[in-house]
Amino acid sequence: MRLMADFAPSRPIGNDLTPWVEQARSVFRVHGVRCTRQRELVYAALASTDTHPTVEDLLVGVRAADPGISQATVYNTLDTLVACGLARRLPARSAGGPCRYDADVHPHVHLTLPDGRVVDAPESVSDAILSALDGAEMGHLGVSGGQITGVHIELSGESSA
Ligand SMILES: [Zn+2]
Repeated sequence: MRLMADFAPSRPIGNDLTPWVEQARSVFRVHGVRCTRQRELVYAALASTDTHPTVEDLLVGVRAADPGISQATVYNTLDTLVACGLARRLPARSAGGPCRYDADVHPHVHLTLPDGRVVDAPESVSDAILSALDGAEMGHLGVSGGQITGVHIELSGESSA
């Protein structure tokens, strides 16, 4: 199989977070989350990208807009966003490694590419995998397919470039 690095979307954290801050405000209002400037910026940075950033990545993005924001604030805000269902925490690839975050909370499949990037699988791939799991008999594993909201696949192989 050819690893299609070219399908991989890569929308870096936006330089101008203004439109995403507007979105953050309305999302927070709908979900009853108290708005603070720092929360808005963290959510805006996360929602503006599809790179599944780490806390470090997000810190760079939010500090462009607010140099005083602390790493602890970013962590706390992400905890709040995850608890409110506005973001998802993706497990670290290795013990002690950094978690990644995603503002897309719809069930979908993540692919880790051989170069370490984490991308969303194409929608058709995601749908096929999730629906196959939905009908799969996995009771012996203690899960049912209907409970699965995300799948992470690590691709290995040589780059096609
Ligand atoms: Zn994702």
